[in-house]
Amino acid sequence: MKISFKLKLILSYVFVILVSFGFIAFFLDKNLEENSLHNIQASLINQAYLVENQFTAENIKKEDIAHLESLITTLSGKIKCRITVINNLGKVLADSEKSQKEIPEMENHLYRPEVKMALASEVGIDTRYSSTLKLDMLYVALPIKENKELIGVIRLALPLESVEKTLNEIRKTILFGLIFALALAFVLGSIIAAQTIRPINRMIQVSRRFSKGDFSRRIMQVSKDEIGELAATLNKMAQDIEDKIKEVKTQNQKLAAIFNSMIEGVIVIDKAGYIISVNPTIEKIFSILRKDVEGKVFLEAIRNNDIAEVISAALKSGKSVSSEIALIYPVHRIFEVNATPIFDNNVISGCLVVVHDITEIRRLETVRSDFVANVSHELKTPLTSIKGFVETLLEGALGDKENNRNFLKIVHDHAERLDNLVNDLLSLSHLESKEIMLKKTNFNLKQQVEGVISGFRSQLKKKDIEIKNELPVSISVAADKNRLEQVVTNLIDNAIKFNKEKGFVRIYGEEINGKIKITVEDSGIGIPEKDILRIFERFYRVDKARSRELGGTGLGLSIVKHIVELHSGSVGVESTEGFGSKFWFILPR
Ligand code: ADP
Repeated sequence: MKISFKLKLILSYVFVILVSFGFIAFFLDKNLEENSLHNIQASLINQAYLVENQFTAENIKKEDIAHLESLITTLSGKIKCRITVINNLGKVLADSEKSQKEIPEMENHLYRPEVKMALASEVGIDTRYSSTLKLDMLYVALPIKENKELIGVIRLALPLESVEKTLNEIRKTILFGLIFALALAFVLGSIIAAQTIRPINRMIQVSRRFSKGDFSRRIMQVSKDEIGELAATLNKMAQDIEDKIKEVKTQNQKLAAIFNSMIEGVIVIDKAGYIISVNPTIEKIFSILRKDVEGKVFLEAIRNNDIAEVISAALKSGKSVSSEIALIYPVHRIFEVNATPIFDNNVISGCLVVVHDITEIRRLETVRSDFVANVSHELKTPLTSIKGFVETLLEGALGDKENNRNFLKIVHDHAERLDNLVNDLLSLSHLESKEIMLKKTNFNLKQQVEGVISGFRSQLKKKDIEIKNELPVSISVAADKNRLEQVVTNLIDNAIKFNKEKGFVRIYGEEINGKIKITVEDSGIGIPEKDILRIFERFYRVDKARSRELGGTGLGLSIVKHIVELHSGSVGVESTEGFGSKFWFILPR
């Protein structure tokens, strides 16, 4: 049973009051009763002595009833108590409460204890219920002697009514006092309990908020006692917890920010192989949602056996395990997976899997080795030819008047191809080195293109190709003039090279969203769809033999792309095989 603090306090007050009042009442009652009885006895004895002096032995011996009667009536009227005169045989001679007629009917008093004692020459005292008067009475009896001869007894009796009355008064007062004290205890108990409980209740309320994680409130310190101290301690504790929580939160936020913004995919696994968390990169790589995979066994969530093996190896061995894996679905990529076990008190508690996309690194490695192979091949072809023709000349063809010039012409062409190739390679490597500084100026594009076109006059004439410079006069860009000239030259060169007889080339420009788009359109052979995506790669050519025959190196478009990107622009192509192509580049203004 839950007893409230208030009830407990009141009950303890009541207990203390009842016990102390009980003691007081008990002892006071007893003492007072004894004391007053004693006092009454003493005064009654004294009065008895005085009364005794009024009697003469003569009266008693003679049994002078009339005299005795009048004497005791007078005396009893004065001292307000009953007086009885008894002879030595116990016979009642006179009694202040009885008339003469009633006396003879009274029984013998010889065996009344006080009379018995008086007859033995002592002061006789007794308290008892008087059947005559129907009251509790105090009796005092004294012997009446004459020359040592005992001739009778004088007895004084006083009703104890007054003692009882006084005691009852006192008892009543004590009872009132008790009731008053109890009422006071109830009121005081309620007030003190309320005052004590109020701050405690407030503390309970605020503590409940603390337990729910709300630390916005503090307990008001009202008193400087133990309760106040408790409130201060709780406040301090709440502040400490709040600070700790804030610290942990900030740390968590930092960690979450790192976790979420990492380029590498991260998977946190527990020791049983269940996923605790994954970061957005993992969501992207495996086309999954964090909420769908958290709490699931790895293989159930991400069906990749290779990674699962790396994880279980790390969890088993307690050492970092790395592996390169190729992902085919949902995207074709190559990853380096690194699983590092996490230890908690020297026991493996899980592992951290970092998935690093190395597709680009591997691609660049392939591109590089392909490039070396391509360059070697491109250099070797003209060199072999040069070597062959020079050897032929040295072996005697030099004297062959008909062919020697022809041979030298071929050697010269191949040397020129080598020169072109080396020049293109040099400009490409220079463009790729990123150390390149663009000398940007504002110039009129239409005029510049006009200059470039004039360099192609003979080629245009040879194929009877019509060229139209449709760029608006007003168009001007801020770019590196020489490099942009290279871009335009390469594009126009291709547009002529891969054009048909009597074809056309159109150059036009437009402004789109504050950017300038320049297009070189031709009516040439076009590009097959499968080659379009790779056309800007180094050495990529649709028809190698044809390109070589036309003096191409396979690096022209690659150089175009690099230069435009150095200007923060972009390049593109639209083409239909057999119907011509549109090469365009966009530059910011
Ligand atoms: P090159 O012209 O030296 O061969 P490029 O890098 O300039 O090298 O071009 C790569 C390839 O793209 C060419 O070999 C050709 O197959 C194709 N190509 C480029 N421009 C055109 C064009 N205007 N029409 C058709 N094909 C083209």
